[in-house]
Amino acid sequence: MTSQNQPDLPNRDARETVCTYGREMLEKGLTKSTGGNVSSRTAEGNIAISPSGMPYPEIDPEEVPIIDLDGNVVHEGEKPSNEDTMHRLVYEARDDVGGMVHTHSPYASTFASLNEPVEASHYLIAFIGDKIPVAGYETYGTEALGQRAVEALGDEYNACLLANHGVLALGDSLSDALETAEMVEYCARIHYQARSIGEPDLLPNEEVDHLQEKFKGYGQNS
Ligand code: 13P
Ligand code: ZN
Repeated sequence: MTSQNQPDLPNRDARETVCTYGREMLEKGLTKSTGGNVSSRTAEGNIAISPSGMPYPEIDPEEVPIIDLDGNVVHEGEKPSNEDTMHRLVYEARDDVGGMVHTHSPYASTFASLNEPVEASHYLIAFIGDKIPVAGYETYGTEALGQRAVEALGDEYNACLLANHGVLALGDSLSDALETAEMVEYCARIHYQARSIGEPDLLPNEEVDHLQEKFKGYGQNS
């Protein structure tokens, strides 16, 4: 149904964004099947989050639940993602974040299974920080996993690995968060490949700081 037929669905934009980027996460190979989840902060400061265990191509906007930062359902949809607490805790800790993507992307998940951060082999790591840190293992869907993610992200990282599990990537918007998740997977792949045939020559922290400044003026930004 088009938005013209349903003008009164609350938070339609945020719910459509969740549908769009959930599908994109799957199409870009960042997850398999119903794995992972995505969310977007609404204008009111609530959270539109993907419903649990539903195939991404089949999710309609009215099935996307809206929850508040305490986990109360504000607008009904299907049952929220198992990882709603992780998303809530990170939104609470990070005012700068407007969207979040949790993936199971393969190269990043490989480092997560080693419980090893992705180090600065490639300059695009500066998009995330001086490395991609790891949140220690906790069972999926638990508050403990959310707390570990908040600790690993701190104020400065735009993504972290979740040990033996996957990735949590952040952005100003859900679209930006998906881009962060792609950068995470790319940096993990390059680091994996470099380590497979040699010892990568890691960038020093000062150069990562310099890159982060330079990125602010990248492209048409000045
Ligand atoms: P949901 O389908 O409940 O979002 O869970 C998928 C997942 O990746 C759990 O970590
Ligand atoms: Zn997961």
